[in-house]
Amino acid sequence: MQFRDLQRQYEALHSEMALAMSEVASSGSFIMGRHVEELEQQLAQYVGVKHCITCGNGTDALYLALRVWGVGEGDAVFVPDFTFFATAEVVALLGATPIFVDVEFDTFNLSVSDLETKIAQCTTLCPKAIIAVDLFGQPANYPSIQAIAVQHQLLLLEDGAQGFGGTIGQQRACSFGDIATTSFFPAKPLGCYGDGGALFTNNDEWASMAASLRLHGKGTDKYCNQHIGINSRLDALQAAVLHVKLKAFEQQELQAVQQVAQQYNTLLTGIVATPSLLPQFSSSWAQYTIRLASIHQRDELRKGLSEQGIPSQIYYPHPLHQLPALAAFAPVADCCPQAQQLSQTVLSLPIHPYLYASEVEQIVNVIKQTLHG
Ligand SMILES: *Cc1c(COP(=O)(O)O)cnc(C)c1O
Repeated sequence: MQFRDLQRQYEALHSEMALAMSEVASSGSFIMGRHVEELEQQLAQYVGVKHCITCGNGTDALYLALRVWGVGEGDAVFVPDFTFFATAEVVALLGATPIFVDVEFDTFNLSVSDLETKIAQCTTLCPKAIIAVDLFGQPANYPSIQAIAVQHQLLLLEDGAQGFGGTIGQQRACSFGDIATTSFFPAKPLGCYGDGGALFTNNDEWASMAASLRLHGKGTDKYCNQHIGINSRLDALQAAVLHVKLKAFEQQELQAVQQVAQQYNTLLTGIVATPSLLPQFSSSWAQYTIRLASIHQRDELRKGLSEQGIPSQIYYPHPLHQLPALAAFAPVADCCPQAQQLSQTVLSLPIHPYLYASEVEQIVNVIKQTLHG
């Protein structure tokens, strides 16, 4: 069994995929171009924002958003302590200071009350922005976070690398905050066949600045460079792959993965702590993450699963404030106790739109046997 079975997805899509890829190969146009422009329009429309600017990966998308806002030395950017490293890495890369904010046990997302505490404690730096992460596929609590951002005049960036496809009410992920970003890394909810990413915004000026920065800070004339930028482009092959995948995502994958999660929820309730969604929120289930009673119980379960050929992953084994590269930014050792405890007790189970109901049953049976003898 695979943790996220991309081969099974390819089998389902392969004739359309082969056609799309050979069309690009025969067009002779490989970087940016028509395929990329069409994809940007489709993505913007799907998400419900005015502009989509694709780029090389999700980390670059975060970097570009912060560059557009001029984030740099002396600025504080509030980030959840429980997320993938890149969320805070880009802040530090720009010379700004990541301020770690604790997360909620049940949603794994930014704690609104700790956000208020950490903003109040921030006295020596210039508070500039909040990066909220849609961890494991569920949007962060944007209605509450947005209110805090407005109150403190902070910019709000949605790191939707895992969130594409989630919703709050009728509104889709990657449309929250002032700028949103996502990743098309193969294992994300909408993945390509390599690296890719995108930035979304309704703001015309930010969109054109991001579009310039991804292309060496180009002006209207490509060789009259206006800014110090980077080279972060999406290629036409990835755009063609994403075109096929977005259609499958909309037509059936998102619904299929939600059924898998629903089956897990039903079978695992009362056995382990299952992930919970806020009312009106939906997840695109980048991960299905359960919580165990202790690190000991988690190790035991991981071993039990692995012995039956079932892969599982620990996302994430360390809170950001304990990572060697970021520890210098942690004010005190226990700045985010809930994130720390989650890193000891979470376990992500196989999930993807092509996982069979019989496989979910098998996984749940192994969990029951391992935990209850
Ligand atoms: C994957 C991920 C990123 C980085 O995306 P890449 O495309 O791998 O650069 C950033 N933030 C989060 C939360 C992610 O999961």
